[in-house]
This record gives sequence, C-alpha cells and structure tokens, in this order.
Amino acid sequence: MQVTAESITDAALADRVRAARPSEVRKVFRAAQRPGMISFANGAPYLGALPFDALASSAARILAEAGPVALQYGASQGLPALREHIVSLMALEGITAGADEVVVTAGSQQALDLAARILVNPGDVIFAEAPSYAGGMAVFSGYEADLVHIPMDADGLVPEELENAIAAVRASGRTAKGLYTIPNFQNPGGVNLSVERRRRVGEICRANGLLIFEDNPYGLLGFDGTTLPAIQPDFPDITMYFGSFSKMIAPGLRLGWVLPPASLYTHFLNTSETTLLNPPVFNQMLLSSYLDDPAWEAKLDEYRSLYREKFQVLVETLEQVMPEGTRWNLPTGGFYLWVTVPDGIDTEALVHECIDRGVVYVPGTAFYTNGRGHNELRLSFCLPTLEQIRQGGAILGEVFTAAAAKGGRA
Ligand code: PMP
Repeated sequence: MQVTAESITDAALADRVRAARPSEVRKVFRAAQRPGMISFANGAPYLGALPFDALASSAARILAEAGPVALQYGASQGLPALREHIVSLMALEGITAGADEVVVTAGSQQALDLAARILVNPGDVIFAEAPSYAGGMAVFSGYEADLVHIPMDADGLVPEELENAIAAVRASGRTAKGLYTIPNFQNPGGVNLSVERRRRVGEICRANGLLIFEDNPYGLLGFDGTTLPAIQPDFPDITMYFGSFSKMIAPGLRLGWVLPPASLYTHFLNTSETTLLNPPVFNQMLLSSYLDDPAWEAKLDEYRSLYREKFQVLVETLEQVMPEGTRWNLPTGGFYLWVTVPDGIDTEALVHECIDRGVVYVPGTAFYTNGRGHNELRLSFCLPTLEQIRQGGAILGEVFTAAAAKGGRA
C-alpha cells in the first residue's frame, strides 16, 4: 500500500497501536491543565518548597565550569556520580548493588518501557494489582501483553489470588510472564504490600517462572519516613527494580533508573541506547549536585510532613461532605487516596460535571483493564494547596451528594 501524508489510515498503523484502546483519561488530564482548575488528578509533587535559588546557582556553576560536558552527549548508562547516589538510596530499602549494575533512564516510565520491550511477547500475561497504575499497564499493553488483575486487600495483593490466576492462565494455554507490582503506597490504591507477603509473592513468582517488575517511585515517601524492604534483595535473579526521582524531587528532570538482574543488564543498556542514546547529562549533573548536599534529606522530610498535612485535610474535608456509604483507605504515605462511592454512582460520568465546576480527579475505570472501577476514584493530594483541597473537596461533596440523592444516577 502507498502511504502518503493524506492517506494514513488505521490500515497503516502497526497492529499493536491499532489494538490500543483510546483512553478517556486523556480528556481528564487535559482538563487538569486548564488555568484555575483544582487538580486531584495529577500524580504530581508540590514543587513550591524546592530550593530554587540554590538550584539556580548550581545550574549556573555547572554551565560555567563544565558547560561543554553538561550539554554534550553522555554515557548511556548515566553519570557515575548519580549512579552512586542511586545505590545509596536503594540501600535504604535493603538493596545491595554496585553503581555499574544500574541504568539511568528518562524517568522510570522509560525504564518500564525498556523492560516490556525486552521481555514481553504478544499474548504474554502480565499480572498487575487491581487497580494498578494506568501508565504502567499502558506500557505492557503497548507491547501486546494481556493484563490480568490480582485483587488486593489492606496488605496489598493477595498471594492466593495470584496462585489461582497463574493456574487459570496456564490452564488456558497462555504464557504467564511476570508480575507488575507497586509494593509501596501503591498507585492508585495507596496500599503497602506487607513484608510477609513480599517474600510469599516472590516465592510464588520464582516457583512459577515469573519475572517481577517492582515499580517503586514512592518508597521513601512514607509520612513518617518509614521504609519497607524491597522485594529485589531476596529475588535479584528475577526482579527488575524501578526507581524514580520524580516524586521525591522533580518530575521535570525526567530521571529514574532500573536495576535489572545481572543476566539482563546488557539488554537494558543496549535497548536504552537504541531509544534514548543517553539520559540528559545536564539534568543528571544538576540532580547529582542537589543530592551531594545533605540538606536534600531535610527537604524530603519537609515534604513528608507537608504531604501528611494535605492528606489529613483531604480526609477531614471528605468526612464532612461525601454521601453516606463513601469509603476510603488511610494510606501512610505516597500521593493517593482511593475512594469508593456508593453503588450506582458513576465516577466516569460525574467527572465532567466536576470539571465544569472547576475540580478534576481520575475515575476508577482508568486503573483497570477489565471495565471495573465505575464507583471508584483516585484523589492525588500532593499538588493542590490546602485551600484548594478544602474547596475542591467541597465541590466533590456537592456533586456526589446530589448524585446519591438521585439514586446514584449521574
Ligand atoms: N510508576 C508509577 C507507579 C508511577 O506512579 C509513575 C508516575 N506517575 C511512574 C512509574 C513514572 O514516573 P516517572 O517516569 O516520572 O519516573
């Protein structure tokens, strides 16, 4: 077929792109960008408290002293100094790794994409928590994986459910390839996978030949600074561990990393080289100099307390305004409150009314691939100010209470 600019039709698309579902959620995120909108939608940090003056002097110093290096191509693995910092951060979660085992990426999102590109064949089954991070699932679906959800309870994904799901996939003749899990302050559920379950889940994966994709952008963001041990140390041969500076420091730097099993390291490096050549050198230098100053840890602590306060104000507001029968969990860190509204209220339909009234959230359906989530929603509480949380919460209360009074019809 002859393809011209005017005639690119669905027929020209790669099968994997044609098969992708158009996402309703994009509309929600577009609305979140409108000026004045109170956004509970973006899983974004609040950057107002970053030391911009210090960052500006550091940026000026880097450019003055090492401009030709900072703005040149660089090593595809990332800068050694930044990788050393990454190793120290991972040690806080019990991970022992050398700086030469880590690949720095353009956010952990790119690292997830590398992993799927390297490891997923069309039709492979990837298990993911129910609900799970929409952007992570989209990566796996983009490589034509079949996602199968595993139910969670207050201690994270339920190991017996994982075992049952593996057996069902096997019985259907499909390949069970791996588990995608966000063990800390899960996006969107806000739940932690309990320490006992981390081992149990790892053992199930090992016994069944499954890979583990351990995605951990929130692990150091517990409100009280408590960190839980990663899954990776007990299962280093089957685990891809993904980290990110986006939530702890600044997503605009676009820096994250992957620690793959040693046997896969070269594949990750080579594949990253193909897609990115190298992660941005200037950003890595700026980040590395920020991490050189121990003041960054005090800043992280300040953010933890700020986020705890925002979370508390959100919960206090919702308690006063949401219709009877609304439930939410009480996360001990991270960015998200997962809310369940009474049956019959459709959060996907109501989000448009909320947007018209100046507040936006992500409907629960975005976090499942199986059509569930209509009576659930995710509220991200880190980005809005306390005042916006009170105002936005009050609007949610009015819209949802009116819907409940109508018998749940949106
Ligand atoms: N994983 C999870 C669970 C996330 O919530 C996000 C961002 N929302 C990412 C990965 C990607 O983060 P980044 O690319 O900014 O590191």
